[in-house]
Amino acid sequence: PVRVRFAPSPTGMFHVGGARSALYNWAVARQSGGTFVLRIEDTDAARNKPEWIDGIISALAAIGIHGEDPAFEGPYFQSQNAARHSEAAQQLYAAGRAYYCDCTREQLKERTGSEHLGYDGFCRERGLAFEEGRALRFRTPDEGETVVVDLVRGETGFPNNAIEDFVIARGNGSPVFLIANVVDDLDERITQVIRGDEHLSNTPKQQLLWEALGAEPPVWAHLPVIVNEKRQKLSKRRDKVALEDYLAEGFLPDAMVNYLMLLGWGPGDDQEILPYEELERRFRIEDVGTSPAFFDVKKLTAFNGEYIRALAPEEFAKACAPWLAAPYAPWQPETFDAGVFEKVAPLAQTRLALLSEITSYVDFLFLDEPAWDETSWHKAMKAGAADVLRDTRAELATAEWVADEVKAVLVAVGEKHGLKLGKAQAPVRVAVTGRTVGLPLFESMEVLGRGRVLTRLDAASQ
Ligand code: GLU
Repeated sequence: PVRVRFAPSPTGMFHVGGARSALYNWAVARQSGGTFVLRIEDTDAARNKPEWIDGIISALAAIGIHGEDPAFEGPYFQSQNAARHSEAAQQLYAAGRAYYCDCTREQLKERTGSEHLGYDGFCRERGLAFEEGRALRFRTPDEGETVVVDLVRGETGFPNNAIEDFVIARGNGSPVFLIANVVDDLDERITQVIRGDEHLSNTPKQQLLWEALGAEPPVWAHLPVIVNEKRQKLSKRRDKVALEDYLAEGFLPDAMVNYLMLLGWGPGDDQEILPYEELERRFRIEDVGTSPAFFDVKKLTAFNGEYIRALAPEEFAKACAPWLAAPYAPWQPETFDAGVFEKVAPLAQTRLALLSEITSYVDFLFLDEPAWDETSWHKAMKAGAADVLRDTRAELATAEWVADEVKAVLVAVGEKHGLKLGKAQAPVRVAVTGRTVGLPLFESMEVLGRGRVLTRLDAASQ
C-alpha cells in the first residue's frame, strides 16, 4: 500500500511551498487508497514553537487535509521517536558502518586546504570510542554507486566515493536530521518521499542510510523550486509566502488549492480551473516538471475571482461575513444591515477578485458619511460638477425611487449640461459612494434610499 508523508518543521508560518508538497502527497495517497502521514519534525527545540504546530494543522485543514479523512494518519512528532534515532545510530556503529571522529573544522581545513571539500576520512580506522565532543560519522562505501530513483527527475547515479563520510550524531550524542528523518520514514513504513528539491543533496546519503539499516529505500520525488516574478526562490524575507496570509487577505481556500496544484504540474489540457476531485483524479507525480514554478500572484488573483463568481449567493455571503465585521469593517456594527447587503451582494460578487475588497464596495451603505476619496474627488469634481449635483438633487427629490428612474434623471441632467451619461454620473458617484469606481450606480442609489442620497448630494455641492 502507498504510504506518503508530509514532514514539516514547525519553525514559522505555513509556507505555500509546504502547502503544495502536502497537496501532492495528499493526492497521491487518496488516488491509490493509500495513507498520508503527517509528521511534525520538531527536534530543533530552539526554533520550534507550539503555535507553529497548531498553525500547520489548521492551515492543512483549510486546504482540505484533515484527520477526519480516512487517508490521514498522525500527527506523529519526531521528538517522540528520539530513542529510535539514537538506537539506529548505535546500530550502525556496532555494525562497523559508522565511527567516531574528533576532527575539528580547523584540522580538516588544514589537511584538505579548503573548507568546502567534504570530510577526508581521517578517523575512519582510528577506532575511537564515544566521548563527549566526538561526532559519529557514517562510513560511505568506497566503491559502486547509489542510484536514486526519482519520479520527477528520473534516475541519477551518485558515485559512492564522492559522498563524504557524513555526521549522523553530534558530539553530544544527539542524532542529526538526516538520520532522524530516515528512521521516522522507515518506522512509518513510508513508500514514497515527495518533498521539495532543497533536499535533493540529502537523498543519496539518506538512501545509503536506508540500505545500511537493512531496509528497502523509498521511491523519491523532488518537487521543483517555487520562484517569484524575478525568478528568485520564494523566501519569507522577500515575498509573501504564508498560506495563512493569503487566506486572511481574502483568497478562497478552493482557489488556493487549485492554484497550488498547478505549481509544477498541469492537468494536460487548457482547462486549469477544476474542482479538487478532478485535479486529484488527474494528478500524476510522474508528470511534475523539473523547471522552477512561478508563483504568479496575478494569476492566483484571477483564479480567485473565478472562484468567487462561482459561489452560490449564500456561500458568497458566508465567505464575506468575516470582512463585514470588526476589525475589517470600517462601519459601526449596529449600522450594518444584512438585508441591505443581500440586495447588493450579487452586484459585488461579479466584481471582486479578493473577498477583502468587499468593504470598499459596500461601505457607502453602512457609513453615515463615507469619506470622499481624494483622487476620485479631483477627477470627478471638474468645473460645472456642482451644478450637475444640484440639478440632480432637485430632480431626484420627486422622481420615482427605482434604479431606472434615477438613471433617467441623470441622462436628462447630462443632456442639459451637454454631458454624456458617464461624465454626468461621475460626480454623483463620488458624492454618493466616495469613489469613482464601484457597484452599478443607479441600483446602489436605489438601495441607499432617497434621504441619504439627497443629503450626500447636498454635502458635495456646497
Ligand atoms: N522537515 C523537513 C523540512 O521541513 C522535511 C524533510 C522531508 O520532507 O524529508 O524541510
